[in-house]
Amino acid sequence: MTTQTRGIGMTSQRTRDRMVARLRDKGIRDEAVLAAMAAVPRHIFVDEALASRAYEDSALPINFEQTISQPFVVARMIEALRGGEELGRVLEVGTGCGYQAAVLARVAKEVYSIERIAALLDKARANLRSLRLANLRLVHGDGAQGLPEAALFDGIIIAAAAPKIPDALLQQLAPGGRIVAPVGAGAQTLWMMERTATGWTEKRLDEVKFVPLRSGKA
Ligand code: SAH
Repeated sequence: MTTQTRGIGMTSQRTRDRMVARLRDKGIRDEAVLAAMAAVPRHIFVDEALASRAYEDSALPINFEQTISQPFVVARMIEALRGGEELGRVLEVGTGCGYQAAVLARVAKEVYSIERIAALLDKARANLRSLRLANLRLVHGDGAQGLPEAALFDGIIIAAAAPKIPDALLQQLAPGGRIVAPVGAGAQTLWMMERTATGWTEKRLDEVKFVPLRSGKA
């Protein structure tokens, strides 16, 4: 373990374990998700000035008017995506700083994460380097179009909110696959939709606050 990932004081493994204990208290039950979140050092995904707050259960700014998602929301989304089962190929829309992608890479066989802001993707790449996640691929592009060249996916997570889930993404989901996404223009709700043999089942999760899904590259 490097000094950077071990950390000291507010960025130590103990601090991370306390974050996981709080997630458990708040109702996260999936041990695979909890273990992944205990392993990924969240503080390396935020500016040094914010590192001491990295294990609070809150969203934090990451430049370009974007945020790193709240740990509880990351846990909730991945727990809902897994539904207690192994994940194969997963797509994340909205890499941001790369934190959720790193957690996903620990619970899924293969992860693609797409980000529309090139400068943010570069930052994510740098943040992720020391973690050496060989099963994670980062892509610059408009995630509202999905990633046809890598589809179908067993799971899709959208980390930005839209008035409705883009059709392109629904079409890139394999039978039995799940999509977890915040939906709504003002008030947003986190939804899980599962593609069944005959159609879709859906489940309402939580009220949430995400940055908007935008179109085109930047
Ligand atoms: N997953 C991140 C949170 C990302 S915030 C984490 O782990 O904390 C949402 C991100 O979605 C922002 O970086 C934003 O630029 C990106 N985004 C918004 N619309 C997008 C689109 N159409 N395609 C890809 N990324 C998009």
